[in-house]
Amino acid sequence: MRVLLLGGTAEGRALAKALHSRIDIVSSLAGRVPDPALPVGPVRVGGFGGVDGLRRWLLDERIGAVIDATHPFAATMTAHAAQACAELQIPHLVLARPAWDPGDAIVVESDTKAAEAVARHDFSRVFLTTGRSGTRAFAGSDSWFLIRAVTEPDPAALPRRHQLVLSRGPYRYDGELALMREHRIDALVTKNSGGQMTRAKLDAAAALGIPVVMVARPPLPAGVAAVGSVEQAAQWVTGLG
Ligand code: NAP
Repeated sequence: MRVLLLGGTAEGRALAKALHSRIDIVSSLAGRVPDPALPVGPVRVGGFGGVDGLRRWLLDERIGAVIDATHPFAATMTAHAAQACAELQIPHLVLARPAWDPGDAIVVESDTKAAEAVARHDFSRVFLTTGRSGTRAFAGSDSWFLIRAVTEPDPAALPRRHQLVLSRGPYRYDGELALMREHRIDALVTKNSGGQMTRAKLDAAAALGIPVVMVARPPLPAGVAAVGSVEQAAQWVTGLG
């Protein structure tokens, strides 16, 4: 049986590594970042062309199961995979790393609501870590932003006063602490991405008493099967026989 693994995450790479020697698996990446970390085994790159394109691709490639290990905020890809698999009756599983406990964070449902929270609380020096596509909602803000992203955002989607840092995790506690101190940050804005690669910023913010605005995850499509660990996903595939 051939398995499509929708990846682009550390969990996707770990699952490909765990399975590739015993299962015919093809990983798929969106192709957003230059020089991505590649999973072991066969990899295809780029969109499928919406849900219709995905449905065709699944049939053409004789895919027998799909594991969606995309980023927890990749809601469009997740919705397309759930729909195409339901229509074609292909076994389908979402591997979603556990969310972070938001603790005392100001939890909001979107980037727009996060920008509103920054304005409402009068935060003036904000560490913005919501990624390339997450800056647009802040473009009209008068606050100053330290923006960290993997690839450069559209200049039109940037706030007037900012400094841009292009980098890729994992990040360590000491570095995050130093960065927030150096820039006199008074608020951290983050998605609830979960996982260890980028969680040090939360610990550093807590240590410095810096408030956190956290964008909650989009809900999974109704009725999809989901697991939280690579081991559980590997077991699920193996059990398909
Ligand atoms: P998305 O909005 O769900 O996907 C948009 C389109 O990209 C999909 O419809 C699909 O195109 C294509 N696509 C996405 N993942 C794919 C995959 N694994 N293989 C093939 N095609 C794929 O997802 P996104 O644009 O990747 O990101 C959405 C949000 O998640 C953003 O806010 C982004 O910042 C966040 N994200 C963060 C990270 C991170 O490491 N921090 C990584 C990924 C995403 P077609 O419709 O043409 O098939």
